[in-house]
Formats: sequence, structure tokens, C-alpha cells
Amino acid sequence: MDFGDSPEERAFRLHLREWLGHNNPGLPTSSTSDEYWAGQAAWHQTLFGAGFFGLSWPKAVGGHDLPSVYEAILDEEIIAAGAPPRPSVGYLVQGLLRHGNEDVQRRFLPGLVSGRDRWCQGFSEPDAGSDLASLRTRAVTDGSEYVITGHKVWTSYSDAADWCLVLARTDPDVPKHRGISAFIVPMGQHAIEQRPIRMINGITREFGEVIFDEARVDAANMVGEPGEGWRLAMTVVSHEREPGELGYVARYGKLVNELVHAVEEQPDKYGPEQRRDLAWALVEADMLRCHVSRRLSDRLDGLSHGPEGSVDKLLMTGVEQAVGHAALSIGGAASTEGDDTWLKVYLYSRAQSVMGGTSQIQRNLIASRILELPTS
Ligand SMILES: Cc1cc2nc3c(=O)[nH]c(=O)nc-3n(C[C@H](O)[C@H](O)[C@H](O)COP(=O)(O)OP(=O)(O)OC[C@H]3O[C@@H](n4cnc5c(N)ncnc54)[C@H](O)[C@@H]3O)c2cc1C
Repeated sequence: MDFGDSPEERAFRLHLREWLGHNNPGLPTSSTSDEYWAGQAAWHQTLFGAGFFGLSWPKAVGGHDLPSVYEAILDEEIIAAGAPPRPSVGYLVQGLLRHGNEDVQRRFLPGLVSGRDRWCQGFSEPDAGSDLASLRTRAVTDGSEYVITGHKVWTSYSDAADWCLVLARTDPDVPKHRGISAFIVPMGQHAIEQRPIRMINGITREFGEVIFDEARVDAANMVGEPGEGWRLAMTVVSHEREPGELGYVARYGKLVNELVHAVEEQPDKYGPEQRRDLAWALVEADMLRCHVSRRLSDRLDGLSHGPEGSVDKLLMTGVEQAVGHAALSIGGAASTEGDDTWLKVYLYSRAQSVMGGTSQIQRNLIASRILELPTS
């Protein structure tokens, strides 16, 4: 494993660094404010337009076919510039690349990759989260269309989405994992209602419930074959659990750097306990950076993606919550009256052990699929 840049990587890094120097939109760190969400689409399109998005994805869908180490360079330079992280769509891209037919990939991937179209993921339901396969949303054929009826919840970005990747039951008569299909559903129709959920950190957009009341979708928008939805879901969530796909490393780096800066500016204000919290967050964030580099290096060596995403997710959760704790400890003392930025960072960190599959579920997966322990 060699973390040094090759001459080509170095040239790319310098070009990117120069570009970031002039194009940092100065948004707040991801997921802490409505202002970030409002500016995220434009940031996505700016990165894409400059050739800095989808670096390791195929050229045919708007990517650059570069080795994934370039994604790591992108994240490192984003951290160094204090720029906002790159938007998280990698897990959807990977799902469509693996399971979508040529027509689906041609019609949907360019808009997703370029940031022209906004997407959300309609998997979870009020009674189907960890036990996702028990989902009850159903899709029934009607000519060349399917009619979808059901209730999704915790759907991130559903307020602004053009498309929703929906899991729905198409065959109630087979074992539950095998009766699910996946559809790319257009959100702009009267039969779909989005109800925003206000988050504890104050975010009023981003999150919602989505009600499908006989919504319609073209059968050609099915991803994979009928009954293949579970396989697609497993591809999507396993990539969702990888910090390297999502730019999380950049987000934690940006937050820790801001906290370090706060301490350097007013060193007398902070006691040993606060410094210890910050030091721990710094170590954790750097551990994740090294871990992601190792994962990327594995990929360069041809090791394929597998259940290890659960290990990544648990590590990432530890980092997010260490950074959140430091944000409360340092930032709480630093903030002037009425500024609750750091409190919001802490509050959002609590969600990491739930979103994308809870920590308990990750431990179950590690036990059964990596350690191959008996399942009682
Ligand atoms: C910020 C955020 C964003 C999200 N975005 C999306 C999104 O865009 N799209 C989407 O579809 N979903 C989304 N989710 C939903 C998320 O995937 C679910 O919340 C998660 O899978 C857990 O499901 P649940 O909330 O129904 O909890 P439950 O499954 O009801 O779990 C409740 C508790 O029981 C534990 N538990 C359940 N089963 C087991 C078991 N077998 N063994 C041990 N413990 C168990 C869980 O660990 C948890 O502690 C999001 C969630 C959050 C917090």
C-alpha cells in the first residue's frame, strides 16, 4: 500500500487544489442546516461541470473511469480547502450500474451523476426498517405500467426529489425476500404526497414520509427483473455503508479542522477535558481516513465489495459520534448566544447509528456473514 501520489495523481491534486481555491461555495458542513441542503444541488453540478464528480465511475454515464484513489484525493483536497463534501449518490449509482439494464442506465444515470436530477431512496416503511423484507408497499401491473400503493418513511431528500428508487412487493405468494421489485418512480405526480419530518437538529427539509396512493410508473422503469428488488437493495445498502463512497471522510475532516481552529484562536477558553475530546475526534477521523485509503487500495488490487461495508459503517458511526461529542464539548463553549451550529452537529451524529441500518444490525451481519457464527 503506497499512499504517495504518482506524477499523474500529483498533477490532478494540484489542479483540483487550485480550482477549489476559487470555487469553494462556503456552505455549512453537510446535514447541519437547511442552508446546506439548499445549496447542495448547485455544488454537485459545479463539481460535475468542472470534471470533479464521479471520478471512478464509467465515462458512459458521465464519470471519468479513473482509479478510486482519485476519489480519496478529491476528499483530501476538499478537507484541506474547507469546502463542503461531495454529495452522496454513489450507492444509487452502484445499484443502477449493477442491476439496471442498458436502457435504465442510459436514461437515468447521466442525470443522477451530473446532479441534474435529484433522487431519494424509498425503502423503509413504518413497520419495515431493520426487517426491510417485510415491507408492505405493493405494485400491481396495469398494462404497460405498475400501480404503486404504500407508505414510506424516513425518506431523505424526498422534498426535492425528481425520482424515488422504490422497493415494492410485486408477488405476495413467494417467500418475502423474493417477492420484491425495484422501480424508479417519478415524484411529480398527484398520487404521491410528501410530508416533511422536522429533525431534532432543526432541519425542516431533507426528510419526509412519502405516501403512494395508486401512483403510476412505467414497467420499463423497473430496475432488474421482477423479484430482484432485494438483491438491488442489498447492493445499495452495502455501498451506503461505505464511508469512501460518500465523502464522509471529508465531512469529518472539515468539522475537526474547524474545532481545532476554534481552540487555536482562544486557547485559554478550553480545559483538559475538552482538549481530550477534540484529540479523540481527531484520532478517530484520521483512523477513518486511513481505513478508507486501505479499502480503496484493496479495490485497486481487485478485491471485490462484500459484507465488510458493515465494519466500515460501525467504524464510521464511532467517528461521527466522537466528532459530534467534541463538537458539543468544544463548540458548545465557543458558540455565541443563539448560535447552535455545534449542537446541531452533535444531534445529527446520533442518527448515524440508525441510518443505513442500525449498529445492532451491522453487528448481526458481521457475526453471520464475516465471522460465520451460528445464528442461534
Ligand atoms: C437520518 C436518517 C436518514 C434515513 N434515510 C433513509 C432513506 O433515505 N431511505 C430509507 O428508506 N430509509 C432511511 N432511513 C431509515 C433507516 O434505514 C431505518 O431507520 C433503519 O433501517 C432502522 O429501521 P427502524 O427505524 O424501523 O428501526 P427498527 O428496525 O424498528 O429498530 C428498532 C431497534 O431495534 C433493533 N433491532 C431491530 N431488529 C433487530 C435484530 N434483528 N437484532 C438486534 N436488534 C434489532 C434496532 O437495532 C433498533 O435499535 C433513514 C434513517 C435516518 C435516521
